[in-house]
Amino acid sequence: MSRLVYVNGNFVPEAEAVVSVFDRGFLMADGVYEVTSVLGGKLIDFAGHCVRLARSLAELDMTNPHSDAEWLALFRQTVELNAVVDGMVYLQVTRGNPGDRDFAYPNPAVPPTVVIFTQSKPGLAQSPAAKAGWKVISVPDIRWGRRDIKTVQLLYPSMAKMVAKAAHVDDAWMVEDGMVTEGTSNNAYIVKGNRIITRHLSQDILHGITRAAVLRFAREAQMEVEERPFTIAEAQGADEAFITSASAFVTPVIEIDETPVGTGNPGPLALRLREIYLDEMQKTAI
Ligand code: PMP
Repeated sequence: MSRLVYVNGNFVPEAEAVVSVFDRGFLMADGVYEVTSVLGGKLIDFAGHCVRLARSLAELDMTNPHSDAEWLALFRQTVELNAVVDGMVYLQVTRGNPGDRDFAYPNPAVPPTVVIFTQSKPGLAQSPAAKAGWKVISVPDIRWGRRDIKTVQLLYPSMAKMVAKAAHVDDAWMVEDGMVTEGTSNNAYIVKGNRIITRHLSQDILHGITRAAVLRFAREAQMEVEERPFTIAEAQGADEAFITSASAFVTPVIEIDETPVGTGNPGPLALRLREIYLDEMQKTAI
């Protein structure tokens, strides 16, 4: 079934969903995005994604074209029109098409380009990869210095994913100055006893919406949380490791650079957090 895609005010069949070749998203990667999961036809942590969207736009001096209530109505309409039960909603907002190509932002600003599309993933929360756990390798983190802004500039994470694929593993953890920053499209964690260790928030990593919720649930479940950087060696010697993202939720990591983590099986704490996260977030899904 062809999807219906929202483009600048209209829902159109995907073959007709087009933007200008002069769009700054295409020419300059001048745009931001959000990925929100859908479970049972409902949006997971919609409010969290709205807050980060507003922040990403503000950091790039772009005006938010919609209120949170308007975004909610558009997201819901896109999910309904495409009959998505489980899957993802992708929102892309770029600085639009000023006509001529120019490094300077258009002044006055031109209307942003807004695209919303869905990807259906039946059984998203029961992914076999989550039960088996992921194997990861480490790669250098050579991305730009504002990783806290969720821009569409995803070439290096995409290259790192290809390095992981070539090594027959599931993902790559990026390392800068000897310390893990994050996964290609997820936040990284290790576990020692009852303590969860994950890098503190800064411009060096994306402020994961799933990260915020998972750390809140962990504290509520009397787990200890320490926000600081860690090395690959420390991770290899940890009891458990895991990642979080809006589409992978909490997924255990069982091997890092060919070294098994803990028993080499998904860890109990990661599995428990995954269960809590999915239970709690489905209760508040809208
Ligand atoms: N870090 C990076 C680099 C990412 O691309 C993502 C996913 N967009 C995350 C972390 C996780 O963020 P979230 O939990 O909001 O999906």
